[in-house]
Amino acid sequence: MSIKENYQTIKNQLPDPIQLVAVSKTHPVSAIEEVYGFGQRVFGENKVQELMEKSPLLPKDIQWHLIGHLQTNKVKYIAPFIDTIQSVDSEKLLAEINKEAGKNNRVINVLLQVKIAAEDTKFGLEIQEAKHIFQQYLEGKFPHIEMTGLMGMATFTDDEQQVTQEFLTLKELFDELNQLKPLKTLSMGMSDDFPIAIECGANSVRVGSAIFGRRDYSK
Ligand SMILES: *Cc1c(COP(=O)(O)O)cnc(C)c1O
Repeated sequence: MSIKENYQTIKNQLPDPIQLVAVSKTHPVSAIEEVYGFGQRVFGENKVQELMEKSPLLPKDIQWHLIGHLQTNKVKYIAPFIDTIQSVDSEKLLAEINKEAGKNNRVINVLLQVKIAAEDTKFGLEIQEAKHIFQQYLEGKFPHIEMTGLMGMATFTDDEQQVTQEFLTLKELFDELNQLKPLKTLSMGMSDDFPIAIECGANSVRVGSAIFGRRDYSK
């Protein structure tokens, strides 16, 4: 299928209020331009360097989301333009984003990335850590941050029950924090599991290969 058909197929599966983050990592600027042409404005990348190479070549009204692990020493490069950092996995990183956002006179949207997968290869906060950081945020420690929600990745498995359990764990935390301060975004689900994520309450999904095709890491 073409990128256009893929994009339509995905859009048709997303009920209206659900945000699509088109994950363009490893794909060329030309492919992003094509999807931009269909009206898509929110794109996700997972590496700072790749984002820095591509973003200047693309329209200014793209809302860039960083979805990959971010080192504190790289925050300064993206702070001038990044819309949302979905992968905040430590208080130290949050403090750095707050500082760099301040230097740029901006407020940066962030999601706390929570570890919900049984696999322990993935980055992310433990639930208790996420609650602690959220409390610090509520106390006003990060004035240049808008904490818009939570992000999580389920285990890479065919076991739908397990994936469902993991997503529901994050939904429960989302509901709990949402009572303390209204949150906008629950980012869960990728190409293979976004329908399950939506059933579990996701209102933002991060879809890459189902739009752009398989990633070729050999290049
Ligand atoms: C690559 C990536 C995605 C998209 O994965 P696909 O399976 O290609 O849809 C989503 N979220 C994160 C954090 C990623 O790194």
